[in-house]
Formats: sequence, structure tokens, C-alpha cells
Amino acid sequence: MISRLHDPHYARWASQIRRTGGCRQPIHLRGKVEHWDRATGTLLHRYSTHREPDGVLRVPCKTRRASRCPTCAETYRADTYQLVRAGLVGGKGVPETVSAHPCLFVTLTAPSFGTVHTRREKNGKILLCHARRDAGMCPHGRVMSCTARHGADEPCLGEPLCPDCYDYAGSVLFNALAPELWRRFTEALRRRIAKNAGLTLRELREQVVISFAKVAEYQRRGVVHFHAVIRVDGPKGPITAPPAWATADLLTDAVRHAASAVTVTAPEVPGEPARAFQWGTQLDVRPITLHGDLTDQAVAGYIAKYATKAAECVGTLDRRITSPDDLAALPIREHARRLIAECLRLGALDELTEFRLTAWAHMLGFRGHFSTKSRRYSTTLGKLRAARTEHMRGEAISTGRLPLFDEDTVLVISHWEYAGQGLSIGDALLAAALTGNSVPPLSGEAHG
Ligand SMILES: [Zn+2]
Ligand SMILES: [Zn+2]
Ligand SMILES: [Zn+2]
Repeated sequence: MISRLHDPHYARWASQIRRTGGCRQPIHLRGKVEHWDRATGTLLHRYSTHREPDGVLRVPCKTRRASRCPTCAETYRADTYQLVRAGLVGGKGVPETVSAHPCLFVTLTAPSFGTVHTRREKNGKILLCHARRDAGMCPHGRVMSCTARHGADEPCLGEPLCPDCYDYAGSVLFNALAPELWRRFTEALRRRIAKNAGLTLRELREQVVISFAKVAEYQRRGVVHFHAVIRVDGPKGPITAPPAWATADLLTDAVRHAASAVTVTAPEVPGEPARAFQWGTQLDVRPITLHGDLTDQAVAGYIAKYATKAAECVGTLDRRITSPDDLAALPIREHARRLIAECLRLGALDELTEFRLTAWAHMLGFRGHFSTKSRRYSTTLGKLRAARTEHMRGEAISTGRLPLFDEDTVLVISHWEYAGQGLSIGDALLAAALTGNSVPPLSGEAHG
């Protein structure tokens, strides 16, 4: 910290850090940008990182994961919020009339893989975890009952009453197959809507577009479930009204039917039977309205929140497990350790290679995207980013960093290379002070 503060380039370094918005692990770039006059061949302007502090430009990491960089993940969360909300009430190029289209908020849960400690509330009272008057003993000698009223942050929540009875293989295989189960759900949904409307699938496509925006959330027990906005539009997407037969009731029926109808099967492997997975019984289907219980802001906020969270929230790691890692020594919860161990065990079996369980062990077997949406749902993250880049460019021109040249007459030659990532501990503390962000856990180190 002292050497940075005494560095003659400190002011420039501080300005770079402010421009990253407080990114915890900025990317270091080395390179140059030259502006040449096409007609005369004269060099109009040259920018090089040569004169920047440490000879590099620091730019935000743009991660989506809040555990890695809260600042950049916040940008992604805010974009996701705008994107989801535009699909509910319009904006960002989507007409406001979209708010009249049938639209549901659906939660599809995972099935049970064994009894876990839970906290549920009823009428403001916390219920007993898992009280059973005549609870028997499991084959491992544990009483399958828990009469505690658990606090909201108790570490046992989501952990099995008997880890030896818990179906760890089932849990990670479900995560691995959940994206396929979702895909089958959307197909079954289309078939059911067509049937209810008395149409063939081809006729259905000519009349409606069904759009989705969904996010995966890890439950404490380490399985994913999905929250999704499902909307019916006319044949050209959100700009066209759906036909009169496409009502919220018809959509609700189709969601309930499709959720209970689909299965996906994990193949039989030595020591494990073939398993057919279905969604859990806790299906939640609610209409989204502008003024009712479930508003557009609530839904957009909910989806955006989970778009930046991953498995680390259930006490596992936010990075890949590498072979030299000693699983027993990793600072993770025992339940997560067993789920990871199961991924590594099953990942080594030939029959299951397609699920890439070893590579995704830190995600407890889930290798899908955290937030996804169909093409016609609303705007795209790319468009939101482009709008922001254009805005930043305008700012840079007005503050004198980029020369304002007409792009048709000027040739821009740029060359960039990656020169590392991250901040030293001293730099991280200064960056936190400069940007008003929280001080990161002091285990990081700069690379490069
Ligand atoms: Zn960042
Ligand atoms: Zn309990
Ligand atoms: Zn047991």
C-alpha cells in the first residue's frame, strides 16, 4: 500500500481503479490503439499502455458470480432485472402491450433424495423440523425424527437426518439431467397447449410463440430447482397479441400437466440402478399481474438475484476441483463434500462420461446455465451491454480520453494482449477505499 501511494503514477492508477467500478479481479491488458487518417496516412492519435501504471490498463472482469466479484456481478444482475422486466411490462424495445399477454411465474422443484433438516413457517410460527411420533430407526441406527425449530442460518439446514441413507448418487444425477428435464418440460408444454387448443404442433407455431426466462437456484440440500417466467405471445413474439383462446387458465393447465408428465432416465451403472427422474411434487404456478400479489418487479428481482448465485451458496466451492485437491482438506460442509465425492466417483464411470460429472463436481453435477431465456422473450444482454458501451464511449470522449473522429475517415488499429488478472492485497485494500466497496477476503493474489 505504501509503495503504491508513493508511486508517481498513483493518481492515474486510482483513476483506472475507479473506472473498473471496484472490480475485485480486474483484467490487465497491455497494448495500443492508433487512429490513422485514411486519406493522408497521418497518425492522428496514439494511445499505449506503455505509460500507464505498471504498463497495463485494468478493465473489469465482468464475471456473473457474486462470490468472485460483487461489483461486476451486480452489473449482470441489474441487466438481468431489466431484461426480465421488459418481458413483463415492456420497455427496451418491447411494447407495453406485452403486459396483457398470459404470463405465469413457475417454480419446478427437485424430487426428494432423503429427509433433510428444514425450516418452514406457518402463520408466522416456525414449525418443528421433522417431528415423527413413532419415528423408527434407520438401518444406521439414527432416529428419523427432528423436533428442533431451526433458526434461519443454522448450518444443518438442507443436511440429511442420516447421511448414510441419503441418495447422493440420485442427487447429483438429477442435477446433471435437470437441463434435459427442463427441455422435455417445454416440449410437453407445447404439445399440451396444442391439444387444448385443438391444433397440431405446426398450426400452434403459426399462431403463438411461447417464451421463457428462467433461472436455476440451488436449494440448501444441493439440488437445483428452476424459477421461470412463461409467456404466450402472438405469432411474431411480444409485438403481437396472442389469439383469444390462449388464456392464463389454459397456460396454467398446460404447465401443471407438462410438469407431471415428463421424466428423464439416468442409465444403469455398476452398483446403481437406472433412475427415472421427475420434478418434485412442490410445483408452484402463479399468474404475474401488475397490481396483484406477484408483481413484475418482484419476479424480475427474484430471477435477477439468483442469476448471480451458484452452488457456493450451499457451502461448496466456486471453482473447479483439480486433481491435486485433497477433498478432505477443502473448507466445505460435509454434505457438499459427499456430493462432490459422488460426482467424482460417478464421473469416472464410462456409462456416465457424457454428464462430465468430474468437471462439474464443484457445481454438484449441474452444468447448465444459471439464467437463460428464449430468443423472443425480450431484449438481449448483448443489446443492453452495447448500449452501455456506447454510453461509456460518449463519456470517454467528453472527458478527453478518446479522440472524437469520424469513423468513416479514420482507420483504427488496436492491439491488445492479456497481461494478468487481480489485485495485490495492498492494491485491493486501496481499491476498496477508493470505490466504497467492501474489503475482499484477504486471500487473493495478483497473477501475471
Ligand atoms: Zn469484476
Ligand atoms: Zn432438524
Ligand atoms: Zn441411515
